[in-house]
Amino acid sequence: MYFLASKYHEGVLQARRRVASGAWRRYDAARVMYGLVNAVRCRCGDDLSLVSADQFGSYVEIPGGNVRVPLGYVGVLAPLLRDLPDCCVHYCKPVQLVRWGVPGPGGSGPAAVVRCCDGEEFPADYVLVTVSLGVLKAQADRLFCPALPAEKVEAIDRLGYGLANKVFLEYKRPFWVWREGGIRLAWSAEELSDRSDWVKGLCTVEEMAGSQHVICAWVAGPEASAMERCTDEEVADAVTRVLRQFTGDPSLPYPCNVLRSKWCSDPFFCGAYSYMALDSTVGHQCDLGAPVPSVSELTAPVLLFAGEATCPGHYSTVHGARLSGIREAERIVQLTKQFCGPPRALADRRRN
Ligand SMILES: Cc1cc2nc3c(=O)[nH]c(=O)nc-3n(C[C@H](O)[C@H](O)[C@H](O)COP(=O)(O)OP(=O)(O)OC[C@H]3O[C@@H](n4cnc5c(N)ncnc54)[C@H](O)[C@@H]3O)c2cc1C
Repeated sequence: MYFLASKYHEGVLQARRRVASGAWRRYDAARVMYGLVNAVRCRCGDDLSLVSADQFGSYVEIPGGNVRVPLGYVGVLAPLLRDLPDCCVHYCKPVQLVRWGVPGPGGSGPAAVVRCCDGEEFPADYVLVTVSLGVLKAQADRLFCPALPAEKVEAIDRLGYGLANKVFLEYKRPFWVWREGGIRLAWSAEELSDRSDWVKGLCTVEEMAGSQHVICAWVAGPEASAMERCTDEEVADAVTRVLRQFTGDPSLPYPCNVLRSKWCSDPFFCGAYSYMALDSTVGHQCDLGAPVPSVSELTAPVLLFAGEATCPGHYSTVHGARLSGIREAERIVQLTKQFCGPPRALADRRRN
């Protein structure tokens, strides 16, 4: 991994170097630090001024490093889906409203009803909500009736949700030496003080495993959202300008193809992943994942919550999302044992 400063910045420093003798080393150290800071910014998806330094350590790095899933997650899910009964997963069925906590006349109705945007309704004993924290921030007030309790709303407000996108650039003739590693763009604090251009959100440029023609640039923070509003041509143009500026090579070619994610404007994601904001705590992550109403001996919860943001220590990751799903599946198993079947059973037994 290389740390590259922009040539503009280098020019300024060369001038300073003539004045100060130790500037060379300071310059190199600063360049490494800027590169690392920008990489952390990319990992959080927001300005570091909004990220909690105290809570940063609550993230647990799991051993084994990054693993590339060759077929993507479709390949991971396929064997699980094969074991499910036919037609029990409904695709392309956005949920409009979850009605909960209001059983029908005589308490005989379902604990919850999930209404989809196409009008179809599904009665349910439990509703496991796994929409992203971004979706909850944007839509929780109209997604649930009655509204979510105060602790849940506070957790949704206080936890941070970052923005990030990947921009894949394909080149006819690659200009980099394959397997030499990616680059971290070491924007200086001075350069980042002017944020009118979305390219300041560019953090790293990585090679793609398995392709010698494609590189992937990461854009993070509010700039990730601004990038989505540009055309492919504008993005190709801007990234090329930055790569030329940072490498000092004005002959670097334009990509022949651009493919990019648009997680921020996608209403089913509304961003990338959660982070610990200045006033976030692990307690907020626990509150976000807590069942509603809370579990007691006599009453079962109706709404359960999973997803990466509900997983202390592993938030912002796929393994966090997976662990939280297993946690809630296990909760349903335990509740089913506790109530000897669906949660209604207890009330029904009492009545009889
Ligand atoms: C650019 C980028 C790179 C990443 N890289 C990594 C990485 O290298 N390693 C890693 O571990 N993690 C990575 N992540 C994070 C990882 O992708 C997420 O943490 C993970 O996908 C979260 O899973 P989730 O199930 O909690 O939420 P999501 O993946 O957001 O799933 C929520 C689901 O809810 C659905 N939904 C939303 N609204 C509705 C509605 N109204 N009705 C019905 N369905 C709805 C959505 O369509 C979606 O399918 C990355 C994320 C991004 C954006």
